[in-house]
Amino acid sequence: MLDNIVEFNDVGFVYPGDSDNGIEALADINVSIKRGEFIAVIGPNGSGKSTLARHINALFRPTNGDVIVDGMNTKNEDMLWSIRQTAGMVFQNPDNQLIATIVEEDVAFGPENLGLPREEIAKRVNEALHLVNMEDYADFAPHMLSGGQKQRVAIAGIIAMHPKCIVLDEPTAMLDPIGREEVIATIKRLNKEENMTVVLITHFMEEAVQAGRILVMDHGHIIMDDVPKKIFTRIDDIKRIGLDVPAMTELAIRLNNCGLMVPKDVLTVEEMAEALCQL
Ligand code: ADP
Repeated sequence: MLDNIVEFNDVGFVYPGDSDNGIEALADINVSIKRGEFIAVIGPNGSGKSTLARHINALFRPTNGDVIVDGMNTKNEDMLWSIRQTAGMVFQNPDNQLIATIVEEDVAFGPENLGLPREEIAKRVNEALHLVNMEDYADFAPHMLSGGQKQRVAIAGIIAMHPKCIVLDEPTAMLDPIGREEVIATIKRLNKEENMTVVLITHFMEEAVQAGRILVMDHGHIIMDDVPKKIFTRIDDIKRIGLDVPAMTELAIRLNNCGLMVPKDVLTVEEMAEALCQL
């Protein structure tokens, strides 16, 4: 089995534009994603995050270089179906992703398209709804659900296809804090318990710190690639490109400025509480 589920080799991507040269959205992207990793992708608006994500399930194909998904080159048209089954994609707006009138029918849509037997479909729908903690809502109409619940149903619809990798493009951007927490908890569980590879695009730093590794994008390039603690101690670099550090990191710095020596690489409320208790 290949170690890397996704590889970008010298990838560039140009959108056709008004000018002769078009709009360069990705340049010199070289990155590998290992099986079972949880990666967050952050960066200012227009830095290329969505364009990168859409290359993983072959919605876009590179202008230069190659994207390899589980050994398949996304330029190979014959592999399109297998690639999309390997790497499922969840988008920002859950309302655009739910199509059926009942939750379980919605989740069944993908497996039905795979031409699976009826019992297998029913099994996958139950499993997927259980994994996103929505089994009690199987016969609900999607419009009766909260934003977070809808997004979890959308995730169930992807999981029911048994992808090896799930790519989420700002899945919590339209949700309230409770919905955001539910969705992030679901993503973490899929990664930890099901060993699913997760690529999470987000503009919430509190979500990014939950990942094992963060890619920081700016102007179509990956400018940092490291564990969260290493990324967010580069405060000046992060702020220079217009991003924030997590609230707890900001607080740690301010406490240090006031002479309270907590570690400056604190990322979460739990870590901050522990650091303060130790003083
Ligand atoms: P992000 O997800 O980080 O906000 P995008 O991948 O959406 O960034 O955009 C990267 C660059 O590509 C930006 O300059 C953006 O304006 C441009 N872009 C995105 N989508 C299109 C499109 N459909 N046509 C032309 N340019 C686009």
